[in-house]
Amino acid sequence: VKAQVPFVANISAPEAADWLQALGNAMPEAEFVPFESLSTTKGHKAAVVANPDPNAIKALPDLVWVQSLWAGVEKLLHEPTLGSVGISRLVDPALATTMAEAALAWTLYLHRDMPGYRDQQNKKCWQQLPYVPAAKRRVGILGVGKLGTAAANALVQTGFDVMGWSRQEKNIPGVRCFSGTENLPEMVGQCDILVCLLPLTPATRCLLGEATFTKMPQGAALINFGRGPIVDTAALMQALDNGSLNHAVLDVFDQEPLEENSPLWHHAKITVLPHISAPTTLETAAKIACENLRTYFNTDEMPQLVNRTTGY
Ligand code: NAP
Repeated sequence: VKAQVPFVANISAPEAADWLQALGNAMPEAEFVPFESLSTTKGHKAAVVANPDPNAIKALPDLVWVQSLWAGVEKLLHEPTLGSVGISRLVDPALATTMAEAALAWTLYLHRDMPGYRDQQNKKCWQQLPYVPAAKRRVGILGVGKLGTAAANALVQTGFDVMGWSRQEKNIPGVRCFSGTENLPEMVGQCDILVCLLPLTPATRCLLGEATFTKMPQGAALINFGRGPIVDTAALMQALDNGSLNHAVLDVFDQEPLEENSPLWHHAKITVLPHISAPTTLETAAKIACENLRTYFNTDEMPQLVNRTTGY
């Protein structure tokens, strides 16, 4: 008899079916069972979760840890029914590669003035804007963890002048590294393009507001790939409207999908993306989740868990 692993997911039925298939392929020795179909809720020490229903979590009394299929776990962390159950978030090199590609794509979009040329075309305006070489374009990455470091490396390879900011001190070849809240102003003061790849935690909520925007160079741009509430949207709109910032690319929002009546949709200096910078790759993610489960079942060793104090 195969060991049953609960699959607790509040996602569409086709998505759930794809995940169950990928998980089954990656770990044929186990049976991944949707919560509703479990023969018993007892005895399950580990589960795979994706936007889990809190009541389902509560109904699994023996859980020790859960494997999330997402990289950002701020919602899970604040789920009271989880109690002290450990959370393993998705750490997938394939996801980092996808995010690095997005960081490069949207940095180039801003670097080569694509929003400006689109706007000129709409006005039938034939005008060459001054060219700035990549080496003269200063790009700062907020959060140089798994995704931010991959993004920084891709930007360095393309020739940008790259800076990175984290909580603890870092040493990344070719990147000027800054750490700690006290050194944030020094970095943002030099960023023509600021890319946010931070997790949402109590320390990063609303981190990017008026105080940060006024310190950035005149006409700088922001890319937010982290989480919506890290940016103070009202302050951002104000900075764009008064010209202190030139453009913002937003992939994440306070509320997703973005509300139909949000002023962000039509703002000339905002590019709205529907949370697409780094979609999860089913096969690689399933393999990683299963590797964590297999190690635990064979050795009792849990994967690295999210730190409940720092919130990431
Ligand atoms: P990670 O490896 O945990 O990296 C987080 C980075 O942020 C680390 O460098 C960390 O500093 C830094 N950081 C956290 N709190 C900080 C603070 N208060 N001050 C300064 N630096 C701080 O996470 P990851 O895998 O790179 O993922 C980052 C986030 O990307 C996720 O949490 C998720 O929200 C988001 N994401 C978005 C998408 C999308 O499609 N838009 C997809 C996947 C993930 P230390 O290095 O010093 O710890």
